[in-house]
Amino acid sequence: MLKQTTILQSVRATGVGLHSGTKVELVLRPAPADTGIVFTRTDLNPPLVFPANANAVGDTRMASTLTKDGQRVSTVEHLLSAVAGMGIDNLYIDVSAEEIPIMDGSASSFVYLLQQAGLQELDAAKKFIRVLKPVEIREGQGAQEKWARLEPHDGYKLHFFIEFNHPAVDGTVQTAEVDFDHVSFVNDVARARTFGFMQDVEMLRGIGLARGGSMENAIVMDEYKILNADGLRFNDEFVRHKILDAIGDLFLIGHPLIASYKAHKSGHGLNNQLLRALLADPEAYEIVSFDDVRQAPPAFASQSQREWHFA
Ligand SMILES: [Zn+2]
Repeated sequence: MLKQTTILQSVRATGVGLHSGTKVELVLRPAPADTGIVFTRTDLNPPLVFPANANAVGDTRMASTLTKDGQRVSTVEHLLSAVAGMGIDNLYIDVSAEEIPIMDGSASSFVYLLQQAGLQELDAAKKFIRVLKPVEIREGQGAQEKWARLEPHDGYKLHFFIEFNHPAVDGTVQTAEVDFDHVSFVNDVARARTFGFMQDVEMLRGIGLARGGSMENAIVMDEYKILNADGLRFNDEFVRHKILDAIGDLFLIGHPLIASYKAHKSGHGLNNQLLRALLADPEAYEIVSFDDVRQAPPAFASQSQREWHFA
C-alpha cells in the first residue's frame, strides 16, 4: 500500500514576513493520518486554526492567503510547494504572525527544514485526486489573455508560459515543463526564487507592503536588468518559480493531483479558481489510493526514495 506520511519530529525556523518586515517564528509538527495540512496562528489568543483547502483561500492578490474570522495566514504557497514536493500528506504548521516567513524567496529553506525533521509513514492509504476530464479557467482577451488548465495524465507534470514585457525576464527562457516522472522537486524546482520589479517594490512600500522585501529574498529588477549581484540560479528561474508557486497553490486542494497542469501567465487567483472549478464538477475527478505501490505513477511511487535519500 502507498501510505500517507508526516514528519518524524518537530522542527522550527525563524524568518521575516515579506510584507510586514517583522520576525516570524515557524514550527512544523507531525500530524496523524487524514489531518491534512493545518495552519495555526499561535500569536492569537486563543490560537486560530486554518485547515488548508481550496475554499479557504480568501485573497490571491500578492500571494495565496487563507482567511477565517477576519484573520489571515498569507504567503502559504512556497511552504506548501515544499510540503507537496516532499510528498508529505499531514502536517501542523504553527506560525507567529499573519504571513509565512519569506526565507530566501524560494522553497529550499523549507525543503531543508523538512529534511531535518525526517519522514514518517503512517498506517493509512495515501489519497490522490485523479483528474478525469479537462477543466480550464480563462481570463482577459488577446495579449492580456491568461489561462490555466488541468487535464487527465497518469503522473504529475506542469507546463508554464510567462510573458512580462521586461528585458531581463524576456531575455530568459519563458517556457518550462516539469514532469515528476523524471525530475526532482529538490534539485529542479525548490531553489527558484520569487521576483519583483523595483518600481513595484517602491509602490508597495508606499502602501505598507513589501517591507521585508530585499535582494536577500527575491530577484529584483529595475527597468532594464537584474540587480542581484549573483544573477540567476537557473536560466529559466522566473518561469520555474511560477511552477513552484503553482505546485503550492494546487496542493491547497488537500491531496496530490494525478494530472497535467498547463498555464499561460496564470497566477494565484487563476490557480485557485481552477481548483474550485474542478471540485465543483464531481465528474471531473475521483479520489484514488494504491494498494500496490507499483500501480502508482512513477512520480509518486519513487518520490520518497528520491527526495529523502539522505534521511
Ligand atoms: Zn512565489
